[in-house]
Amino acid sequence: MAIFNKSIGIRHLVCGSCNGCEHEMNALAGPDYDITQHGWDIVASPRHADVVTVTGPMTEAMRVPAQRTLEAVPGPKVIVAIGDCAVGCGVFAGSAGVGAGACVELGATIAVPGCPPTPSMIKAGLLRAAQALGGPSQPAARDDSMSGSTKVGSTRCTSERAG
Ligand code: SF4
Repeated sequence: MAIFNKSIGIRHLVCGSCNGCEHEMNALAGPDYDITQHGWDIVASPRHADVVTVTGPMTEAMRVPAQRTLEAVPGPKVIVAIGDCAVGCGVFAGSAGVGAGACVELGATIAVPGCPPTPSMIKAGLLRAAQALGGPSQPAARDDSMSGSTKVGSTRCTSERAG
């Protein structure tokens, strides 16, 4: 399908997630969503990545490692914040040791809200990332995996630094 003609390497960062978002992300590798058929792959090294996905509100412990990971990703790169915690601290807003949300702190340009977001929403966010990196700009006429009221990209980073 033409819409998937931009392959991307995805490096995932967990910055204080409860792992609920990761549970949904795991479905992307299964037969229903199967991102590998589009040439998208989860990569182990940030040096092989085009896209960085991040979950969680950004803990103190992850702030420096997350920044170092981003620095290791060659440009151009796109950062995708996944889940309410990353977008705006979610249920962790105001908690001790929690920052402004990974979306704000890492400068994500694509936000996928939800607690957790569905695999379809996450896949739609990755599609936007692929488009931002030079993939097709027009959405497919129909793609069942992305149907419904996807809010990808309609929510911006909302959080202010706690404390
Ligand atoms: S958005 Fe919800 S599911 Fe995702 S890390 Fe936060 S609390 Fe967990």
